Amino acid sequence: MDQNMKWLYKTKVNEIISNLEKNNMQGFYVNNKEELINKLDELVKDNSSVSVGGSVTLFETGVIDYLKNKEVKFYNRYEEGLSKEDIKEIYRKSFSVDYYFTSTQAITLDGELYNVDGRGNRVAAMLYGPDNVIVIAGINKIVDDFDSAIKRNRNISAPVNAKRLNRKTPCAKTGYCMECNSSDRICNEYTLIKRQFEKDRIKVIIVGEHLGY
Ligand code: SF4
Repeated sequence: MDQNMKWLYKTKVNEIISNLEKNNMQGFYVNNKEELINKLDELVKDNSSVSVGGSVTLFETGVIDYLKNKEVKFYNRYEEGLSKEDIKEIYRKSFSVDYYFTSTQAITLDGELYNVDGRGNRVAAMLYGPDNVIVIAGINKIVDDFDSAIKRNRNISAPVNAKRLNRKTPCAKTGYCMECNSSDRICNEYTLIKRQFEKDRIKVIIVGEHLGY
């Protein structure tokens, strides 16, 4: 990335980290995937239990492989051969893990996290349950404010995810939200995390790369 763009993003990241702190969340910046893994080594204790929310970012950063190889009890929803019932069980167990990993659809400059779920298991775990929630997001997830977060979901995250999941929704054809009533709709639970009751339960690691949707 161009040095001037780097400067711009870093300035925004500093503002976000400072505002996350005011909102009782901890923020970190790492330049790349390698630094991310080092940061996770610092944050995640061996022999703990972990689980993940649905996320392209966690695959792109190598976090899924990292967790598979770490000394932890990994309730892995992506494991091959799981039945629907197994996955449901993992979703429920995820509420009591030591560390829950996810990305986010948008981070505002005010240090808020905006997410829209199809089923709600991911946002539910972000809101309450796991002792620690580790949110990993590329710089492409940074938006100015709440309105921009909504737009980002309607114009980028949701249509691209609908396409990836091969959903028969209008956005998977048009590339933007048509506020559908489709049985394949992936947007059902809309959440904004403005603040945390438990200080530093949510840790947000912003990676200086474009990741996920
Ligand atoms: S509400 Fe429907 S059309 Fe809009 S983004 Fe979600 S799935 Fe796509």
